[in-house]
Amino acid sequence: MIALVTGASRGIGRAIALRLACDGIPVVINYLNNQKAAESAVEEIGNAGGRACAIQADTGDPDQVNQLFQQAENRFGPIDILVNNAGILHRGNIDSYDPVAMSAMLKTNLDSVIHCTRAAAPNMRKNRDGRIVNISSIAAHGTAAAGTTWYAPTKAAVESLTRRFALELGPAGIRVNAVAPGFILTDMVDPANREEVVKTMAAKAVLGRCGTPEDIAGAVAFLVSDQARFITGQILTVDGGRTDFLSH
Ligand code: NAD
Repeated sequence: MIALVTGASRGIGRAIALRLACDGIPVVINYLNNQKAAESAVEEIGNAGGRACAIQADTGDPDQVNQLFQQAENRFGPIDILVNNAGILHRGNIDSYDPVAMSAMLKTNLDSVIHCTRAAAPNMRKNRDGRIVNISSIAAHGTAAAGTTWYAPTKAAVESLTRRFALELGPAGIRVNAVAPGFILTDMVDPANREEVVKTMAAKAVLGRCGTPEDIAGAVAFLVSDQARFITGQILTVDGGRTDFLSH
């Protein structure tokens, strides 16, 4: 088994790459522009006895995605496990719609899933085995978090595609699931008033704390493993019980 994790130089993607490598799976770490961070993840995996390599590509661009999969195959072999993690958040609401920011979110959050899944599917079909996990967000389920009005539908589309791809690829033995994280402490959401935000978000979760990238990595590791061999088309919420309909 060979895994490819998109946007894996930092945050949740990096934790997923480290976790899969720890489970003995060679991992291709895709990154957009932080080569140094990607190489440090490769080094960390190597030091722990695992195998990894870093490959640059903008996953929102179909040509770059095809090159990414070709280079990955040349380095490690065809991809069996795909984790569509790359994502961006531009805050906004109905009064502050920015079409440029919206296009950027659709390109990274949605187009990336389409391009990478299409690039991975032929080999997975040939092997009659493939495991795909898309990283969504509880924003897709209708949380009240301010400023996520335009981000939410990009992730809702990812969940819709998760089910459609599961339907199309299931007969070929390919499982497609999604993980919907709650508030996870990463650079994406790490604002200046960190302490206050952490306190507020921890109080919203039934488990009384914010999530860590490793909390998400554990769920992904399960979904791509044989333990989840009869699970497909599912959205696994990993939010410590924060989802607004529980906490408000
Ligand atoms: P992050 O900003 O730390 O990581 C996102 C990574 O994606 C970065 O390394 C970035 O360079 C990469 N990326 C962005 N555009 C790319 C592109 N076009 N091609 C390749 N890589 C690209 O954020 P994170 O919190 O680790 O987020 C990871 C995923 O989890 C995202 O899809 C995000 O939407 C989702 N998510 C995060 C949270 C949270 O609270 N942190 C909650 C729900 C969902």
